[in-house]
Amino acid sequence: MAGNGRETPGLKVEIAETEGVRTQVRVGEVVFGAEALAVIAGPCAMESEEQYLEAAVAVAQAGGRCLRAAAFKPRTSPYSFQGLEREGLRLARMARQVTGLPVVTEVLDTRLVEEVAEAVDCLQIGARNMQNYELLKEVALSGRPVLLKRGLSATIEEWLLAAEYLFAGGNDQVILCERGIRTFETATRNTLDLNAVPVLRERTHLPVIVDPSHGTGRRSLVVPMARAAVAAGADGLIVEVHPDPDRALSDGFQSLSPQGFRDLMQAIEPVARAVGRSL
Ligand code: PEP
Ligand code: MN
Repeated sequence: MAGNGRETPGLKVEIAETEGVRTQVRVGEVVFGAEALAVIAGPCAMESEEQYLEAAVAVAQAGGRCLRAAAFKPRTSPYSFQGLEREGLRLARMARQVTGLPVVTEVLDTRLVEEVAEAVDCLQIGARNMQNYELLKEVALSGRPVLLKRGLSATIEEWLLAAEYLFAGGNDQVILCERGIRTFETATRNTLDLNAVPVLRERTHLPVIVDPSHGTGRRSLVVPMARAAVAAGADGLIVEVHPDPDRALSDGFQSLSPQGFRDLMQAIEPVARAVGRSL
């Protein structure tokens, strides 16, 4: 056992390995880990061509740098909306063409990694799959940058080891995303662990972004926690935005309207400036 409490000594994702040089991850033209913050936004899921394009255009017009939305949804109940699946991949291509913004989407299944990787610019590993090691190995081989969300009950050590699977598989284009963890607290959907941001900045050279939508589960809390995330040193945000949040097929209660997203972009700007970052 090494002094860090694990069986292996140094990890490729750890800061010592790069001698203080921070990794920048490029998604399309967008750079994560640079002075400018990178904001990813869009609906939780693609629901229709009309819904997705409306959301995508609103995100682009408000200054979002990257689009999100799931085509394949990991739902707690098997009876909930599971996503548009392959039709969503077509919409991802279309949204990129219309807005010029790169697209991030979740991949759930090793059998679909290649197909999803062809359609989008960055692969998201969701919280439920952070420790799905076969999926991590397959995604490592895809050649696409990866957005690795923290597991629902994962320690930072377990999360870094999941990122190490991607590095071990030859993929060093990894962005970490804090999205809240399970605690005893029930007032919010999750407990957004903003400690993770400075902890990770000390431990790893990888860019770190924050998801205040899943981290809080409540629309009214998204802007305050987005500002807090930027103040804590996050390299970017991922935020849910829906043209009509009250009618969303998933996560509407935590989704911002297009106006809400414009307000968020305005609200984070002075905080970004105060910590030496731009938008
Ligand atoms: C999502 O981004 O919509 C999502 C399902 O996130 P998480 O995996 O963090 O729950
Ligand atoms: Mn969601």
